[in-house]
Amino acid sequence: MKLSQGNLTILDSCPRLFQYTVLEQLAVPQRGEEWEKMQLGSQFHQLMQQRSQQLPIEAIAATDPDLRRWFEAVEAQSADLFPDAGEAWTDSEHVRTMDWMGHTIVGVYDYVVLRSDSAQILDWKTYPKPVDSRRLQQSWQSKLYPLLLVSSSNYSPATIEMRYWFFQGGDQGHPHMLRFESSAAAIAETAAALTQRLTALNLWRSAYELTGESFPQTETRQTCETCSFAVRCDRGNRSLVESDLMQLETAWDSIEEVELTQFP
Ligand code: SF4
Repeated sequence: MKLSQGNLTILDSCPRLFQYTVLEQLAVPQRGEEWEKMQLGSQFHQLMQQRSQQLPIEAIAATDPDLRRWFEAVEAQSADLFPDAGEAWTDSEHVRTMDWMGHTIVGVYDYVVLRSDSAQILDWKTYPKPVDSRRLQQSWQSKLYPLLLVSSSNYSPATIEMRYWFFQGGDQGHPHMLRFESSAAAIAETAAALTQRLTALNLWRSAYELTGESFPQTETRQTCETCSFAVRCDRGNRSLVESDLMQLETAWDSIEEVELTQFP
């Protein structure tokens, strides 16, 4: 299977949810407000991709005042974010993959700044910096992306760092940045965690394919309280009609990592 950090996050949250959304491609619809935020985030990613390729950005920036404000914040950091070609190699929507236990693990980095002796993996967040950064540090994204880079390059773990840029909630419109440095110990820990998760996934998937046995449900009942599949799982109070209406046939993956096309 092709697996992203988002898929692994779902697997951790609830294996049954992984079955529904990743294997069976049933999607959880976004509420109107969430959908709008997602669209704005997607447009900002488009804008950053065009900026990194030195393509025009005016058409995108003009569509929303937030986009323009965030972009102006980016431009204030341009020396750091967009180094000269001789100084570093940069790329946006940069894809790395690796094979692991019969699966293809894939990461789509928002942006990379690769120097001869160090590598930065950047991620754009169009929401405020979290109060507790440890959760973000422990996320599959923060753990998996350095492992993917180590596995597909000559960079040693200690030369890699993740940089999250948050464009909302900063002082006087300035973005916040969170840095997480990688290490050999962190990479080894992530590799062990990945092996453990994929061992479980392979067992559940075999049973699912051979006998039709469903993946296990989460033991954390709280997770079910906001899940669209609560009726299907007999873990909620929604009516079946209401629940079915919520399960639109769209792909979960397309929500998480949108392939960006050039904006005119
Ligand atoms: S309702 Fe609970 S058990 Fe069922 S898919 Fe959602 S989180 Fe998992």
